[in-house]
Amino acid sequence: MTRVYNFSAGPSMLPLEVLEKAQSELTNYAGSGMSVMELSHRSKWFTDIIETAEAVLRKLMNIPDNYKVLFIQGGASQQFAMVPMNLFGGSKKADYVNTGSWSKKAIKEAKKYGEVRVIASSEDKNFSYIPEITADMIDPEADYVHITTNNTIEGTVFNKIPDTGNVPLVADMSSNILSEEFDVSKFGLIYAGAQKNIGPAGLTLVIIRDDLIGKAGESVPVMLDYKTHSESGSLYNTPPTFGIYMAKLVFEWLKELGGIVAMEKINREKAGLLYDFLEESSMFSSPVQKEDRSLMNIPFVSPSDELDALFVKEAKAAGLETLKGHRSVGGMRASVYNAMPVDGVKALVAFMKEFEQTHSTGEGK
Ligand SMILES: *Cc1c(COP(=O)(O)O)cnc(C)c1O
Repeated sequence: MTRVYNFSAGPSMLPLEVLEKAQSELTNYAGSGMSVMELSHRSKWFTDIIETAEAVLRKLMNIPDNYKVLFIQGGASQQFAMVPMNLFGGSKKADYVNTGSWSKKAIKEAKKYGEVRVIASSEDKNFSYIPEITADMIDPEADYVHITTNNTIEGTVFNKIPDTGNVPLVADMSSNILSEEFDVSKFGLIYAGAQKNIGPAGLTLVIIRDDLIGKAGESVPVMLDYKTHSESGSLYNTPPTFGIYMAKLVFEWLKELGGIVAMEKINREKAGLLYDFLEESSMFSSPVQKEDRSLMNIPFVSPSDELDALFVKEAKAAGLETLKGHRSVGGMRASVYNAMPVDGVKALVAFMKEFEQTHSTGEGK
């Protein structure tokens, strides 16, 4: 069997051990004689899967008891609407930080439901840095503050989570949840599409503080009300059962590895290998301000569009898949989520060195 190193931003790599475990029980789960895909979501087998998934996740992220964990559908993009629909219960005002394409979409959606103020933005420099957020920038009357902790397309990360005082902090953590330690108690709500660090696409994780549930207005559809999913244990209707099962396997894999502390160490090692090379390279460079560089998504450029295209093509032939940058940014991007092995990054750096030697123009970067 040949597997490539897949640097896709999402859906992205899953740990091979997880895929093999799923394969081994694909047609007959735990002696049930059925696949997880064929199990009733009310069966004892599935009840055990969803309860274990939540319990392991709670341990991994140290989620306090006054938070609910919801397994829902619709992707992170649906949260762009669900967050304002549910949390605009007071002043109907919210403060957003604009750090990239995903933030912009969240802002656009929220504007349909209330008054949105953009309190800081890095758009002036192509989203290549994270603006500083201080307490005095926040409207104390706002229903919430929204940030995107890791900017998947632009390759930046909040290394310091803003202190928003009594105003709940909402975070789109789609591309760096479970990659490093977070203090969940600093957030009112965390959401993430699964297809980067959790499991297959189709599942969305929401971690929400109890007091933020039940604020949705009468007109909010049942399926878009956090209360519905909270009161039913994410079983109001048929949840994405196979996705939840895969997420459980990924959570167990992480636990086995030593939890988030161990994972973060490996992620820092992987990103360090690539960033160190980008510093010394005479051909490739990072467009992102040094102190705000993401551990998960690492954009880089060569001196020309032609070299970028050639690089992507030759890398693919060498088993290094999906390195083309996002269409809005260009260049290259290596997404090195939790499941990317250290060896994958080593192979990429070795390939970059070789490419640089072969194609050097002598002009430098
Ligand atoms: C991928 C991504 C999204 C979109 O997720 P979907 O699940 O496809 O809706 C939103 N925000 C961030 C930060 C992402 O990385």
